[in-house]
Amino acid sequence: MLRPPLKHCRACGTAVDYRVPDDGDIKERAVCPACLTVHYENPLNVVGTVPTWGEHGEQVLLCKRNIEPRRGKWTLPAGFMELGETSSEGAARETDEEAGARFEMLGLFTVMNVTRVGQLHLFYRARLLDTAFNPGHETMEARLFLESEIPWEELAFRTVKETLEQYFADRRTGVFGIHTLDIS
Ligand SMILES: [Zn+2]
Repeated sequence: MLRPPLKHCRACGTAVDYRVPDDGDIKERAVCPACLTVHYENPLNVVGTVPTWGEHGEQVLLCKRNIEPRRGKWTLPAGFMELGETSSEGAARETDEEAGARFEMLGLFTVMNVTRVGQLHLFYRARLLDTAFNPGHETMEARLFLESEIPWEELAFRTVKETLEQYFADRRTGVFGIHTLDIS
């Protein structure tokens, strides 16, 4: 679901109007009728990892969500990027917070536009350094899955499913690329 539209000016609190600004812009924006501030709303970045274990990366770490949305469903560790961090740092932070895993960050793996909800999802590969996980409050359980064990029908998000499918496809060829995808 898209974020709810902005109701009040972030500068002065006046109720905003949605209209095309008078500056040559072509899109409707939240414009403050009092202080004339134009509020630009842009997509949010969701960053995460594909943490893998085994000599050939045959197992992937998934987390069972303990929070809404999709509580009880399985996900790769991921969350909203924070101001002041890089995409890779954000992905590492989320992996630490949600799984309590020790890992080494590897390369960017998937770049997915989820235009319907105004999000860009970025997943990095990560190599687990051990199998002792200490998940935080957002996670009920963190465990490793072989490809044959992945709960495909119980995954929380489409971008997680796409990233896992791509991971196992690349693992078979032994070459990990960067994959871009537009999800409607
Ligand atoms: Zn204002």
